Amino acid sequence: MEKDTNIINVVRQHLQMENFFTGGFMVRSNKPSSESHNIEHIEDKQVEAELEKIAQEVRKCSKCGLGSLRTNAVPGEGSPNARIVFVGEGPGADEDAQGRPFVGRAGQLLDKIIAAMGLKRSDVFICNVLKCRPPDNRDPRPEEIISCMPYLQRQIELINPEIIVALGAHAARSLLNNNMSIGRLRGQFHEYYTGIGRPSIKLMATYHPAYLLRNYSDDNRKRVWEDMKKVLAELGLPVPKNQKHQSK
Ligand code: URA
Repeated sequence: MEKDTNIINVVRQHLQMENFFTGGFMVRSNKPSSESHNIEHIEDKQVEAELEKIAQEVRKCSKCGLGSLRTNAVPGEGSPNARIVFVGEGPGADEDAQGRPFVGRAGQLLDKIIAAMGLKRSDVFICNVLKCRPPDNRDPRPEEIISCMPYLQRQIELINPEIIVALGAHAARSLLNNNMSIGRLRGQFHEYYTGIGRPSIKLMATYHPAYLLRNYSDDNRKRVWEDMKKVLAELGLPVPKNQKHQSK
């Protein structure tokens, strides 16, 4: 009986989330279109090539013990011209198997969140703090984060997004270099410092999609959506119409 109730709960939660985080609206970047501006097109190509160089380094990396445990490294993927970079914690089993970020259950929810924002996965860049899977999905260790962080820093520097969305406590803490809880970090913009004398990038922290799946409640779902609406507002993008009435 208990088991049946749990399954019904899971299905109900899944359907609620499915209804909430759907969209399919296409909102184009405010950055100039690369097709019509030759110089930007060349720049995009250069950034793409540099991102690929980083990806190749990541695939050969053995800076920490995770390198010898991986099936595939997961460097990250998406638009070199992205206005938003989503950063997760580290690959799980599905990502390790495919070499692509956020392709499992948490990834499917992230896809819905991105669609609810009126964007496509290919509009943004998605990556992780750790590029290789920690065994049994354990938390990243400090020495692993320290070894891997330069890859993420270089990716962010190249893409130079307007906003970084840190998914979960590990991503937010690693990028902000603090130890605060995700409950305190989420919901407001922080500054990600790219280096001395360089402009900082706005960072929004929110709950990790896997946390949302595990701790599903209307309130948690709405919290994530409130965070994403702040991101849209900061970018000057509209909240897609079919999301407005659901967002209270
Ligand atoms: N969780 C993460 O943090 N990253 C992924 O790529 C997948 C799940």
